[in-house]
Amino acid sequence: MTPDVRDRAGRPARVEAGQGDDCPIPATSWDRALHLIGQADEVALACHVTPDGDALGSMLAVAFVLRSMGKRVVASFGDRQFAVPRLLRFLPGQDMLVPPEAYPAAPELMIVFDSSTFERLGLLGTNAAMARELVVVDHHPSNAGFGTLSLIDAQAAATAMLAEQLVYRLGGRLDRDIATCLYAGLVTDTGSFRYSSTTPAVHQMAARLVATGLRTDEIARELWDRSPFGYLKVLAGALERVTLEHGPAGGLVWTYVTRVDRAAHGLPYSELEGLIDIVRRTDEAEVAVVLKEDDQGDWQVSTRSKGTVDVAAVCAALGGGGHHKAAGYTSHDTVEETMAKFRHELRKVS
Ligand code: 5GP
Ligand code: MN
Repeated sequence: MTPDVRDRAGRPARVEAGQGDDCPIPATSWDRALHLIGQADEVALACHVTPDGDALGSMLAVAFVLRSMGKRVVASFGDRQFAVPRLLRFLPGQDMLVPPEAYPAAPELMIVFDSSTFERLGLLGTNAAMARELVVVDHHPSNAGFGTLSLIDAQAAATAMLAEQLVYRLGGRLDRDIATCLYAGLVTDTGSFRYSSTTPAVHQMAARLVATGLRTDEIARELWDRSPFGYLKVLAGALERVTLEHGPAGGLVWTYVTRVDRAAHGLPYSELEGLIDIVRRTDEAEVAVVLKEDDQGDWQVSTRSKGTVDVAAVCAALGGGGHHKAAGYTSHDTVEETMAKFRHELRKVS
């Protein structure tokens, strides 16, 4: 199944699809996925709550292909306040999204993306529990596999790499819309090709996507280089109270943003995604933490490490999960209590 990929001049581009021989997902699993999709009239797709580029991009890319195959497609994520984050509104295919209320209660076939646990599906966890078949497409090392079929590769830099595989295996044509969705996933999870997960396979995939003529400059601007003015004000407040502590892990830098701070500047929660990238630059700190109060009053805790500390282990102990150097969890405590518990768990792994 060779996808029809063209370069900017419209010439056929050479394509080497896939992750090569080291993909740990057995051929039988891919075959099973194709079989389940082949049998289904309707396919229900979901990704994790407050989706990032990898979650939403992977899901929408596969949605495009399924739709072109004549399937009925619904796609969603289980947020109480259902809204696509402003920085992902440029992604094509959003007409295929439905709010969780409109999602089938017991899908015949449900495919979930970039979600390491059931809990990450939020409101759609109930639907997933009722699904006849539940396919899990993910790259989190912490994902133990919770559906009826796992397509999990913990080595993959992004779920988008697995979504690309699925697109090809379904015989899909890699057009610019699909490539834009996949590219958003790839650049989000590799920090724009800066993280250690950026392998030759990542660049090869990027080359295939860029060959469809997508605008990497416009995508980069949408994802990282714009925000409402209020962001600067909220950022100023967060940086004003940033704290550097010396501890067993070799330095902990942290700050927080309340929903009152955001409300004062009309800033939606999703605009805070990039704040951790500013805080984690701190040379003196091995670990960076940002506590973000969401609209429900819960703290969404973003954590990063430079590599010595496994923040996924720390976050898993606190009810969350993620990757070695980037992980998170939800806290219902105060800022002080949240940080006290975090330091306690951090000491255990340091
Ligand atoms: P971020 O700080 O960008 O929101 O999340 C970083 C990484 O941590 C994500 O890629 C995701 O894998 C993981 N993560 C964030 N929040 C949670 C959570 O509440 N539960 C789990 N299991 N993982 C999370
Ligand atoms: Mn991801």
